[in-house]
Amino acid sequence: MKVVVCVKQTPSTTATFKVSNNVVSWEDAGSGKPNVVNPWDEYTIEEGIRLSEKHGASEVIALTVGPAESVEALRTSLAMGCTNAVLVSDEAYSEGDAVSTAKVLAAAVQKVGDVSIVVCGKQAIDGDSGLTPVMLARKLGWTPLTYVAAINEVSGDTITVERLIESGRQVVTAKLPVVISVVKEINEPRYPSFMGIRKANRAEIPTWNAADLGVAGEASRVNWAHIYTPPVREGEVEMLTGTVQEQVEALVEKLFAEKVI
Ligand SMILES: Cc1cc2nc3c(=O)[nH]c(=O)nc-3n(C[C@H](O)[C@H](O)[C@H](O)COP(=O)(O)OP(=O)(O)OC[C@H]3O[C@@H](n4cnc5c(N)ncnc54)[C@H](O)[C@@H]3O)c2cc1C
Repeated sequence: MKVVVCVKQTPSTTATFKVSNNVVSWEDAGSGKPNVVNPWDEYTIEEGIRLSEKHGASEVIALTVGPAESVEALRTSLAMGCTNAVLVSDEAYSEGDAVSTAKVLAAAVQKVGDVSIVVCGKQAIDGDSGLTPVMLARKLGWTPLTYVAAINEVSGDTITVERLIESGRQVVTAKLPVVISVVKEINEPRYPSFMGIRKANRAEIPTWNAADLGVAGEASRVNWAHIYTPPVREGEVEMLTGTVQEQVEALVEKLFAEKVI
């Protein structure tokens, strides 16, 4: 059984963003490392590895569509324990939206061949649409299983999972192949091991382009017409002094004055 884990590289959660002429850029003064594995995809990678450890998957292939530097997200995936990795990168794909990303991912999954389960994250912290997993399932013609919080069993050609829904959990069984999107309740992602990091740094990661996949790039159907940073929030902080009793009385007085209570 082959498993593909879809891993997106995103800006670091500590990055500072700038928008100029509708173009977003970011930098990270703290670590100097502005890109990371999409934090939700740490659970994606972990679950792929667990599918090999618990359910006998023979290969766990990390797959990223993105610019050349996103190979780093694949090295992290390998360091954590994925068996292989593929980067899909082509200038023709750079202006795509979730529809085109799903189309490219689907072609890559088909090129890998003989895949039973594709694992995705719930959402990417930059694009944030949460659409890619279901669109990928649609493009492949496979069953989508979203918000998966546990994989209970993979047996023969069926899979049983628990979906996290608002009022609890829903146990569902589906025929393979499936595309799963996972939530953080599903596992605790492991840290890459020292040996894993060394192996990942030496790994040859193939890059597939539009010609390899036979899929042309396409313009976004959803046009991000205006991107802007929200105005800086204004506010004042007043520190109350005195004994606890005095501070509480002063606070209550102010809350009354502002008609909060
Ligand atoms: C320069 C640029 C211009 C863009 N312009 C537009 C635009 O005009 N309109 C528009 O709608 N979007 C645009 N996008 C957004 C971008 O195309 C989407 O972010 C992307 O298609 C995936 O959607 P998402 O980020 O919302 O992922 P989600 O659907 O939130 O991601 C869910 C899961 O899908 C998987 N996944 C998502 N993306 C990838 C990937 N690339 N590789 C591997 N796995 C993945 C991961 O497992 C992830 O956890 C632009 C992006 C860039 C970089």
